[in-house]
Amino acid sequence: MASLLLMGGRILDPATGRDEVGDVVIEGGRIARIGPAGKLGPTPGGQAPTGQADRTIDCRGRIVSPGFIDLHVHLREPPLKGVSERAGLPETIATGAAAAVGGGFTTVCAMPNTDPPMDSAEAVAYYIRRGRETNLARVLPIGAMTRGRAGREPADLAAMKASGAVAFSDDGSDVADERVFRKVLESAATIGAVAICHCEDARFAAGGIVNDGPMTLALGLPGIPSEAETAAVERACRLAAETGCRVHVAHVSMAGAVATVRRAKTEGASVTAEATPHHLALTQEALRGRESVFKVSPPLRSASDVAAVIEAVRDGTIDCLATDHAPHTAAAKAKGLVAAPFGMIGLESALPVYVRALIEPGILEWPDLLARLTINPARVLGLPYGTLAVGAEADVTVIDPEAEWTIDPGQFASRGRNCPFAGWKVKGRVKWTLVGGRVVYEDLA
Ligand SMILES: [Zn+2]
Repeated sequence: MASLLLMGGRILDPATGRDEVGDVVIEGGRIARIGPAGKLGPTPGGQAPTGQADRTIDCRGRIVSPGFIDLHVHLREPPLKGVSERAGLPETIATGAAAAVGGGFTTVCAMPNTDPPMDSAEAVAYYIRRGRETNLARVLPIGAMTRGRAGREPADLAAMKASGAVAFSDDGSDVADERVFRKVLESAATIGAVAICHCEDARFAAGGIVNDGPMTLALGLPGIPSEAETAAVERACRLAAETGCRVHVAHVSMAGAVATVRRAKTEGASVTAEATPHHLALTQEALRGRESVFKVSPPLRSASDVAAVIEAVRDGTIDCLATDHAPHTAAAKAKGLVAAPFGMIGLESALPVYVRALIEPGILEWPDLLARLTINPARVLGLPYGTLAVGAEADVTVIDPEAEWTIDPGQFASRGRNCPFAGWKVKGRVKWTLVGGRVVYEDLA
């Protein structure tokens, strides 16, 4: 395999604490050497490396980061279907993987709420095979918690884990029946698996469209009260403690959920959490124009909720950032606020939105932001990625932190166009993405 030199970038690896300007040499798909700029030869004390690698990428003025890891994407492709059945889908594994590497993501974990749902060992094996065929991002499947995602009986978690599922979730909805939910968590605990919980108590949330509050009045639409999320996060944290299962709370969106996760962690429960770009950068006010692109679950919340989520990202209560990339067809999103499905795309706009929400206001420095995109999500699921340590798989994202650009979903590799950040003038751009030492994305703009 060809060798590669990433020359003169700011090498930032939160897993090892490295933050220095230098060169990275990649050989055999792995990080071979890291050292001061211009000093890395093939042998100790060798000459300047330029010309000694098969390819040199000039990273001066750029950040060299471990590849981003997204624990929460929806790739829409149902398992075990043929080419013709993929034609009208809002995304496929291949287009989703292309969107991933375009956004700097080298590993994405795919949610099982496909139609039909990914709830069997065969379905998981299909996802892994199709993911490998894309030859782009690593696509890791998350198995359904319950059969058919119907919430009535646990799925065969052990069989799916043996087949390669990296976690379990019924994301898109919660498991309403606590007896079933408890059985799922007990089963996950037995096999050492993580349960990723979409925390939304349907007793409060059913039929709701927007955050309960000023928007329900302004738009005349049914609300989703914050109790729906708080109650469900409380239940998930309580059952994590009672069953010993590791619980990861998906898309935390409001202050009460933040407080519950913080308390559960203090009390020693095995709980981790994530936040999305849209819950950091948008409030419910975005819905005033009644555009369905802003319809998402959980809903966009109040400014004080956004502030609480940002503070939780800053202080580590929320461990990692995840996009909840949820493509829909234009036709589905054109149905208006009431009938359109919930969800936004996120992979190709995530980095500059994090820069806008977290770096520019001085909430996080680059190493802190990258930790939440690399080693932290790797640790949540025990994945062997997310670091530039010598010997590690060379999954690398090269960022131009100063590049200014305008978000244009028309340029995205994703089939989805339901991007709430269209037209935003932003800063921070992915220039190269490498998976296993191969360049899988190159910004030609
Ligand atoms: Zn969800």
